Amino acid sequence: MNKIVVIDPGHGGKDPGAVSNGINEKDIVLTISKYAKTELENNYEGVTVYMTRTTDVFVELSDRAKFANNKKADLFVSNHVNAGGGTGFESFVYTTINGGATEDMRKAVHDSVFGVYKGFKDRGKKKANLAVVRETAMPAMLLEHLFIDTKGDADYLKSDANLKAIAKAEAAGIAKALKLKAKTNNNTSASSKPKDKEKSIYKVQTGAFGSKENADKLAAELKKKGYKTFIVKE
Ligand SMILES: [Zn+2]
Repeated sequence: MNKIVVIDPGHGGKDPGAVSNGINEKDIVLTISKYAKTELENNYEGVTVYMTRTTDVFVELSDRAKFANNKKADLFVSNHVNAGGGTGFESFVYTTINGGATEDMRKAVHDSVFGVYKGFKDRGKKKANLAVVRETAMPAMLLEHLFIDTKGDADYLKSDANLKAIAKAEAAGIAKALKLKAKTNNNTSASSKPKDKEKSIYKVQTGAFGSKENADKLAAELKKKGYKTFIVKE
């Protein structure tokens, strides 16, 4: 059965979200969300991924929730970057959630994403009355990816490779949450490319001499017979 995921990059357009250390929350979360969508589509079967925005545009919070409700999503994941002078990663579900599918799915995604935040603090699996997790009709969570106004955190988010790693872990967590099957015949990941295409060169050595003179003699002989020859000093 096909699963539907809605990924929600927070903020956008006139609303940059948190801004500090030369980066904007709206850009970071759009990048993570796009990578996560690609990762899910490339590596897992039976999943359709929608984003509440794919460009730098403003979308109302309630429209994000409505979008997911209209798509009849099985899971809603909102990406944000924290601010306010802390450090680390945390996630939120709605205040009334007490165990059940939403909590199980949040655990799968939270634990997978935190796996890439080694050296940062796990601020915990939290609850809050946030519009996007309140107004969505399906299991929903909001992730706060580090603190934009803490230099070490911001520096981590400035690396495109790190954003890819975060997205990959997010996709893996979503896949676990929805029990998605990994694609078996997948050539999209760099690590699965065959490495046996490199050409080998075979060299033939015909002699080793103690004197340059004798080496030259043999080289001349071989050249006469049409062999490409050169002398190597070891
Ligand atoms: Zn935010």
